[in-house]
Amino acid sequence: MKQELETRYDPKAFETRLYQMWEEKGFFSPVADPDRPAFSIVIPPPNVTGRLHIGHALVNTLQDIIVRWKRMSGFNTLWLPGTDHAGIATQMVVERDLARQGISRIELGREKFEEKIWEWKESYGNQIHDQLRRLGASLDWTRARFTLDEGLSRAVRYVFVKLHEDGLIYRDMAMVNWCPNCLTAISDVEVEFRERDSKIYHIAYPVEGSDRTLTVATTRPETMLGDTALAVHPDDPRYKDLIGLFAILPIANRRIPIIGDSILVDPEFGTGVVKVTPSHDKSDYEAGNRNNLPRLQVIGEDGKMTAAAGPEFSGLDRFEARKVVLSRLHAEVKPYSHSVGVHGKCDTDIEPMISRQWFVKIEPLAKPAIEAVRNGSITITPQSWEATYFNWMENIHDWTISRQLWWGHRIPAFYCPNGHMSVLMTDPASCPACGASPMTQETDVLDTWFSSALWPFSTMGWPDDTPDYRTFYPTGTLITGFDILFFWVARMIMMGLRFTGKAPFSQVFLNGLVRDEQGQKMSKTKGNVIDPLDVIEEVGADALRFTLAINTSGRDIPLGKSRIQGYSAFVNKIWNAARFSMMHIDIELADAGPIERENLRTVERWIMSRLNDATKTVNRSLSAFRYDEAANAMYHFFWHEFCDWYIEMAKPVLLGKHGDADDQKRGRRVLLEVLDRSLRLLHPFMPFVTDEIWLKLGGVEPSVMVAPYPIPEEVLEDPEAERMVEAIKAIITLVRNVRAERGFTPKERFKLYIRGHDKRDANFFRTYDYLLIQLARLDEVIVDRDPPAGSHQDVIEGYAIGIEFPEKVITQEQIDRTLREIESSHKELAGLETKLANERFVSKAPPEVVEHAKARRTELLARLEKLKQNK
Ligand SMILES: [Zn+2]
Ligand SMILES: [Zn+2]
Repeated sequence: MKQELETRYDPKAFETRLYQMWEEKGFFSPVADPDRPAFSIVIPPPNVTGRLHIGHALVNTLQDIIVRWKRMSGFNTLWLPGTDHAGIATQMVVERDLARQGISRIELGREKFEEKIWEWKESYGNQIHDQLRRLGASLDWTRARFTLDEGLSRAVRYVFVKLHEDGLIYRDMAMVNWCPNCLTAISDVEVEFRERDSKIYHIAYPVEGSDRTLTVATTRPETMLGDTALAVHPDDPRYKDLIGLFAILPIANRRIPIIGDSILVDPEFGTGVVKVTPSHDKSDYEAGNRNNLPRLQVIGEDGKMTAAAGPEFSGLDRFEARKVVLSRLHAEVKPYSHSVGVHGKCDTDIEPMISRQWFVKIEPLAKPAIEAVRNGSITITPQSWEATYFNWMENIHDWTISRQLWWGHRIPAFYCPNGHMSVLMTDPASCPACGASPMTQETDVLDTWFSSALWPFSTMGWPDDTPDYRTFYPTGTLITGFDILFFWVARMIMMGLRFTGKAPFSQVFLNGLVRDEQGQKMSKTKGNVIDPLDVIEEVGADALRFTLAINTSGRDIPLGKSRIQGYSAFVNKIWNAARFSMMHIDIELADAGPIERENLRTVERWIMSRLNDATKTVNRSLSAFRYDEAANAMYHFFWHEFCDWYIEMAKPVLLGKHGDADDQKRGRRVLLEVLDRSLRLLHPFMPFVTDEIWLKLGGVEPSVMVAPYPIPEEVLEDPEAERMVEAIKAIITLVRNVRAERGFTPKERFKLYIRGHDKRDANFFRTYDYLLIQLARLDEVIVDRDPPAGSHQDVIEGYAIGIEFPEKVITQEQIDRTLREIESSHKELAGLETKLANERFVSKAPPEVVEHAKARRTELLARLEKLKQNK
């Protein structure tokens, strides 16, 4: 049954239809079977508030390519989707949503507010799933998970209780990063540093009972209200006599001790005097502990000054208070630029704050995680990230896991009226220690990354030993952005090793950032954002995916509309080439039978050999995450070898203008073979267009996505055919160039003279003279006879070529060009002579390099000889 393609490539006509078909037929949903070789990937779960942006499009294209490749390569393949409840991010979105309706979170209360978030999630939370479908992502939606669903919540609770039992989770007063806007503690990795042009203030503190003053420099003068000491270096000759005396804190008029502290104070830095505010600075907090200083909290959790700051300041915002403090002092002001920690989610300056929080003692978890990368059980690509990983893991701080939010996993700690605390798998009705009731649960929730850290195994049903867990865990590859190496990747490694005894994945690929064509970050304010959904609407998902893949090597990716347009032309090329081919193919793939290799002609052996070479490159590059190399190999093969040359060379046979019926039949069979293999090879990159075409070839499988992926076959390698067809291509190119240079029209036909090296060459050129005649537009090809005087002479791939033109006046320009060619050939020859005269080169260079240089010398000499005749 012969099927034709639509004249025009129109992705809208089939993308959605094909995706539905794949999903309905269950191609994305593997059956758990521990006995079959399995391959699995878990998606980096997008936030439930997420809308597909270009970063998602990239990371999911890269995963889908690997997943489709593995699936076609015979693995029982699972790509597991899901979303993250994204604590702060989601709470902020819904809070803003409610505020627009005039509803406040606080008035609503915790329970009602949580209900509102769940409602919001049900209506908007799965948007991103449909958007991932548009992209073609072959995710198993039947296994979709949510970090707050029942199963995952149970895994989270299990891990929390277990770590607590093992003494690796503790609750303590400590200085944490506090966001006065979100009203929660956040972990170190959530703090982003912004370089800021600010000011530094020099403030003089009078020394009690003396006319001396001590000057400190600070960028945050409002914190002085909470100073409880001044510190100097104990060996500093300028100040050491003052240690033990008191200074008077300006404005507050409070006596504070002058202490010596060699850790806090660097005498070389600034004035050598440091104000100590244990409640509002991390180093000061530690100095306060060393020196038994009192703490005075003058800034509250809401970022407003507390009563302890004094009646004049109480209730003022911290930045307002700064102005008032400065108005009361004669501070010397200097411009100063420094980096300020802000909460990445809301851009609010972090306030270091002492508070009671929950922590994971991280070192015992980090050690095996470092080892796993060191001993190669986990590899990170690009490898340069391994050093960053080690450096961070070796200097890691305990992880602040409690958040003062309402949306998230509520910490399973319960307090009784008598102050006992229990951490339990099930909610207790009364206190296990004293029997008292009621029990009240901890109000804090867990950092959203706590549940993501369990993602590769909690999604498989762990802590139960499920068929999915046994089949698909550990996962194979993790693909994600480098920006969440610490937030997520490192923590999954730590938790996976601790709780499953296995590395959760064996390979990590960290993709770069998608930037604009000038290499700038994409941002709404710059207006250079590319919306993947718009692109899919305009040119289809395949062009977007291919553009992203061909630019991915692990570095950042420059992306502009013009690039996408360029690769959209490639998708069109595939369509048109397939359409042309299918007009000549009269057999179905299912009935075609194997190719009779021994009967193939040189040109047919050549294209099979080139396709085999591309197949080799694609498979090898994908195992090394070199998406760029894989995509380039296919692009080059399909466009520049198959379309530009093979189809042209096959036309005379296909159209019955050369050879007999058997030749035509064989030609059609080869064309079908090349098309079929190319489509399968391209499928992981361009799932839609390849299946739309492939299904019309009438194969056995119900979709190309479940057909076997091509693997290289040694028997297809054919260097001899490659050498000969390269010669033909080069001769045709030469004739075309000479024709253009000498100003002949395509209508004018030449005689071509070729001298082969031996009889076989001569026979080859005689057999394929029809190709030269057709593609170079010649009168005839004369083998092994010298061209008449006055012909254009050249040497191509070692063959002496002569082109005899119809009578035509030779212009000065043409003479000049020949002279230039002679000159450049002389130069190259001189270089080669020097090289070959160098004994070191001849003895040290690999023999094939020396051989190549010698052959080139011979060729140049012959070429010069001929060129001189053209003068
Ligand atoms: Zn915040
Ligand atoms: Zn109790």
